[in-house]
Amino acid sequence: MLQLIRGFKDILPGEVELWQHIEDRARALFADFGYREIRVPLLEKTELFARGIGEDTDIVEKEMYTFADRKGEMITLRPEATASIVRAYIQHRYHAVDPVQKFFTIGPMFRRERPQKGRYRQFYQINAEALGIAEPLIDVQLIHLLVRLLQRLRVDDATPHINSLGCPVCRPAFREALLSFIAGRREALCSDCQRRSTRNPMRVLDCKVPGCREAMAEAPAIIDHLCPDCAAHFAVVREKLERLGIAYHLDKRLVRGLDYYTRTTFEIHTAALGAQSAVAGGGRYDGLIELLGGPPTPGVGFAVGFDRLAEIVALQQADFSRPAQLFIAALGPTAQASAFDWQIALGEAGFQVEMDYADHSLKAQMKRADRLRARRVLIVGDNELQTGEAMLRDMATREQTPVALDRLVDTLRQSLANS
Ligand code: AMP
Repeated sequence: MLQLIRGFKDILPGEVELWQHIEDRARALFADFGYREIRVPLLEKTELFARGIGEDTDIVEKEMYTFADRKGEMITLRPEATASIVRAYIQHRYHAVDPVQKFFTIGPMFRRERPQKGRYRQFYQINAEALGIAEPLIDVQLIHLLVRLLQRLRVDDATPHINSLGCPVCRPAFREALLSFIAGRREALCSDCQRRSTRNPMRVLDCKVPGCREAMAEAPAIIDHLCPDCAAHFAVVREKLERLGIAYHLDKRLVRGLDYYTRTTFEIHTAALGAQSAVAGGGRYDGLIELLGGPPTPGVGFAVGFDRLAEIVALQQADFSRPAQLFIAALGPTAQASAFDWQIALGEAGFQVEMDYADHSLKAQMKRADRLRARRVLIVGDNELQTGEAMLRDMATREQTPVALDRLVDTLRQSLANS
């Protein structure tokens, strides 16, 4: 039997309704706050991600699905959305027309990580990016959006973990402090960190390997090395979060180990996922647009792990599928022909109506109505067609009421409204 690829998954009917529910809530929230949808390709030139995510990262070093197309050009299935959105921003010259742009996108990402629970090789993200705004207010707006999205999905314990990563002004001194701290502990670090530490010591702070975490537990914190501008920026983020009543956790260890990440960085945690995993992450990347060939432009954004969010929301509310409103159990070819016409007419009127397309027994049809969790069943045979009246059965109460077949739309509407 052919099976799907390891680390990939199907999202089947029954589960997909939950995904639609989350997506609807996210879209509504983005519309409320002026974020416009952008759809970027799943495939981009490898160079975009190599530059935009960074050669020194796990993603670029080990996890990308990269291959040569038939002409030999190296292309990659996108492992994240920010680089593509920034590429689009530059390519379509938004910076020249109106540099302030707020975008969102929802879709699949691909990373060849080790598959495990909650970690897939094709996973989905909800991304928001605000470009052209340096002020800390927009950082706060994005964190607020994340918390609101989770609240609207009835996840009430979403806690932002926040930190500031400084900027090219404050980095050099911090880098020196970090390098001298690491110098005494190189032996304790994993081989990746040993290799990366001299070129990019921030990566060591980012490493999830327990030995590295332990070795770096007492490492200097960037937040203690912020320049006055970065300190003032972060003070506003904290003050506004407090004003909004958003309880956050200041996490001095939270970093993104690449130079173009600046200032505010954040993750959203919820108890539902256990201590270590975040449902969303984001932050400021004021150096990225320039790095990808655009003019110096600030940017900040987030990515929500859709798969993880769906897992959490499923814990609160299990079933989002829409049961059929009416099942027409038709007996005999004439009744079946009428049922088909009614299904179309009722569908046009906004009702979800199911029927049996073959001529099965009444018992078999009632079984199918049960499986579809139909709220009402209309039983129609030749007799009913002649008298123009049939029984409408309420599947919850088992009550049956006679209905005139030429008044189906009104009767069904009334019947469904009553229970
Ligand atoms: P990142 O783009 O690495 O900052 O990740 C943002 C969010 O995407 C994380 O907080 C996770 O919830 C989710 N995520 C990242 N990688 C995966 C994966 N392989 N499978 C499922 N979710 C993921």
